[in-house]
Amino acid sequence: MSPDPVRLAELMAEAIAANWFSNGGALHMQLEQALTRREAASDAASLTSSGTMALMLALGLGNLPLGSEVITTPLSFAATAQAIAWSGLRPVFADVDAEMLTLCPRAVQAAITPRTSAILPVHFLGVPCDVAAMAEIAKQHGLWLVYDAAHAFDVSFGGQPLGHYGDAAAFSLHATKILHTGEGGYVVTRRGQAQAFRRMRNFGLEAGKPVGMGLNGKLSELQAALGLTLLPDLASELQARAALRRSYDAALGGIPGLRLHATRAEASDSLGYYALRLAPDLRARLHVALAESRIIARDHFPILCGQGTPWPDASIVTAEGGPALAPSLGAQVLCLPMHGRVTASDVKRIAVVVRSVMQ
Ligand SMILES: *Cc1c(COP(=O)(O)O)cnc(C)c1O
Repeated sequence: MSPDPVRLAELMAEAIAANWFSNGGALHMQLEQALTRREAASDAASLTSSGTMALMLALGLGNLPLGSEVITTPLSFAATAQAIAWSGLRPVFADVDAEMLTLCPRAVQAAITPRTSAILPVHFLGVPCDVAAMAEIAKQHGLWLVYDAAHAFDVSFGGQPLGHYGDAAAFSLHATKILHTGEGGYVVTRRGQAQAFRRMRNFGLEAGKPVGMGLNGKLSELQAALGLTLLPDLASELQARAALRRSYDAALGGIPGLRLHATRAEASDSLGYYALRLAPDLRARLHVALAESRIIARDHFPILCGQGTPWPDASIVTAEGGPALAPSLGAQVLCLPMHGRVTASDVKRIAVVVRSVMQ
């Protein structure tokens, strides 16, 4: 979304007039409250300086032993595993579900060791994880459960916003996400933990005294001004994206051999991503063909572990001990443009290119 420059200037002028640029100013409070209102009544949203910081603080809230293991998925953006490592914890990669591409509960179970302290699943491309199975495993083994919900803004499951699941859920407000503050993020915690979370976000200070570990994870007033500027346009952006999703479904649904990446029953649609599933060679051809028509598709994301990554020696734990599915499944994904400015004629053009490649 693109901000109205006049509205942005007005809000920034408020911060300047107040001479208040960070540490929970008026704009920060307004944005935090607006995000909290979107969550379930029992939950609270707390802003952070980035989505990566949101993940680190959500892990930090669990008081996990240094060096302990956090089970996560190899299909995600780099930030997921890096947030674990920068927190002094060890990422352990488990395989994904073949349909949903989210962390496979049986693989998670197989990855648990006496050193496991937490699970960090990702609602990948806005498809909810198997939240019931994850909650059950976490409870059984006493593990902290943090969701990376960076792809899942405005997605609900079973009538609840996705931030409601787990011990905490981390969202990103980066410029590439639906709602943004340039850089930024937020964490949804249960209401009773919001105070401890916000203390940790501010150097662990309470009334100026360091009562626990913390760091600087705060969002500035000028960034909050950007978020508040975009907020009134959010509903129409979401509507446009939902309509775009329906147009894509109608235009691409009947193309032989093309698989549209589907979500779970009981989940609302992802409005952040529209993903196709294709054999890797077809994916590469379609990617090039779209680029030749000046349509930018994205092959989200390179796998997080193995050769050429920060975890070259990590293998992906599978339920049955066989080869992992994640690398080949990840190589199937191609995301089409998903934002409010994609027009009906763009969709037609895209469908023509897709058809020509699939023939
Ligand atoms: C965007 C994103 C993040 C957080 O990114 P920041 O740029 O730090 O806000 C984390 N995980 C995933 C899966 C993401 O896509």
